[in-house]
Amino acid sequence: MNVTLESKAIKTAVSRLKFRTQAYIDGRYANAKSGKTYDSVNPATGKLLAKIAACEAADVNAAVKAARRTFEEGVWAKRSPGERKHVLLKFAELIDQNLGELALLDCLDAGKPITDCMTIDLPDSVHCFRWHAEAIDKEYEKVAPTGPANVAMVVREPLGVIGAILPWNFPFQMAAWKLGPILATGNSVVVKPARQTSLSMIRLAEIAAEAGIPEGVLNVVPGNGSVIGAALCKHPDVDAVAFTGSTEVGRQLLHYSAESNLKRVVLELGGKNPQVVLEDAGDLDYIARQSLNCVFWNMGENCSSGSRLIVHRKLKDKLLAKMIKYSKEWIVGDPLDPATKVGPMIEESHMKKVLEYIESGKKEGAELVLGGNRVLEKTGGYFIEPTIFDGVKPAMKIAREEIFGPVLSVFTFATDEEGIALANDTEYGLTASLYSENLSRATKVARAIRAGTVSVNCFSEGDATTPFGGYKQSGFFGRDKSIFAHYQYCELKTIWMQLA
Ligand code: NAP
Repeated sequence: MNVTLESKAIKTAVSRLKFRTQAYIDGRYANAKSGKTYDSVNPATGKLLAKIAACEAADVNAAVKAARRTFEEGVWAKRSPGERKHVLLKFAELIDQNLGELALLDCLDAGKPITDCMTIDLPDSVHCFRWHAEAIDKEYEKVAPTGPANVAMVVREPLGVIGAILPWNFPFQMAAWKLGPILATGNSVVVKPARQTSLSMIRLAEIAAEAGIPEGVLNVVPGNGSVIGAALCKHPDVDAVAFTGSTEVGRQLLHYSAESNLKRVVLELGGKNPQVVLEDAGDLDYIARQSLNCVFWNMGENCSSGSRLIVHRKLKDKLLAKMIKYSKEWIVGDPLDPATKVGPMIEESHMKKVLEYIESGKKEGAELVLGGNRVLEKTGGYFIEPTIFDGVKPAMKIAREEIFGPVLSVFTFATDEEGIALANDTEYGLTASLYSENLSRATKVARAIRAGTVSVNCFSEGDATTPFGGYKQSGFFGRDKSIFAHYQYCELKTIWMQLA
């Protein structure tokens, strides 16, 4: 499907879209064994988009059985690295060819602006698959430095069957961040997409088959997380679970692992990320725009949203005035409109939760200086305008909890030490950004901030070559992206040989 970022082309493409709505198990689409479905709603209109197969434990069992069989047969795990690379490169190529369609699915399902889907999420995902594919036959294994009587090889082997549980905020991109390294290292996988956003992942399964990924290696079970997510996490034949989502559910997954087979659990969780502007920060127009992007991109429904602006007191008024001025560029509207930068919240209940946070900010005495309201209510969608609170105190609820909406809290400080202390005053530690004209000073502050990624003089999550994940309660065990993501889906084996 050919889609360009032009309103008429988008409308035509939407009218031609066909949704895949079934589970994908052992190379075939199938209804849930119970025949049940659940509704997927378009958050921009509040209207039904599709009815999706509501899988349960029996469907999970069938998917795990297929994944286990393919793993034991070695149809993917034992292919040569070069062969796996070629298949995954073809996979990336086919995703690229279907980029417009997949972007539209995420746009309709998650309410993400179409421009973001087409220029960020999908191209990043294609690049992610290519990067992991290319890495497969570039990594060497090790021979340990033993004495002359022995040879000890230290080799990495795929873990086996991985359960991948995805969030709704970057449906396709998070699938790519998980599947790239999981498949590159030769594992079989059962994916559980988020209930609200299953369409692009379900469609991806048949693209994988077309690329040559053997049937049963990649399975997709849509459905309710507390039912099938739990079934997957407790399954004795699943060797690891890779999860991106809330800290609350992540904690639950560790219990499931302890109660079942001690499967490996890789958690990418929430954030309450600081943006620190030091006294010697440079161009405030540039910083204002970067900061707005950092907090409002993806409607603030972003684990790395810089929802706490910690700015030197001498710069605060000037920077805030510029941010309010440039906030006009953050157009709230129909996500199918290429000009839109802020789509709706994912669902009505989440919109209400974000509005409650805004009320609590007002009640606790923070000063509302921008937005604060639900807008475009007549569309039936769940839109909230970009919102900024000044004068926020560290004990306030809006300062401590992950809001996951377009809401910024502003704090001030006088010394670098105070700024660092404020930045670290959180149970999370996913990302941070900071601004300074002096790179020595910036390096010291970057090292003092306890977060998995710190970007200096920009808002960035790094690229495919850099690991992404959190300190403290933002993560557990692993990282997405980069070669480090490969290691977490492998076991280390020592082969010790006695020489004659
Ligand atoms: P969530 O509520 O934790 O859900 C994530 C996934 O877990 C969904 O597929 C969900 O299924 C499933 N799930 C729910 N309960 C479960 C259970 N008891 N057992 C197993 N699986 C279960 O998170 P979300 O609201 O989708 O996503 C937002 C969160 O993700 C935020 O906290 C955000 O910061 C975090 N996030 C982190 C990163 C990162 O890289 N660190 C990236 C993106 C997002 P249902 O859809 O059926 O509920």
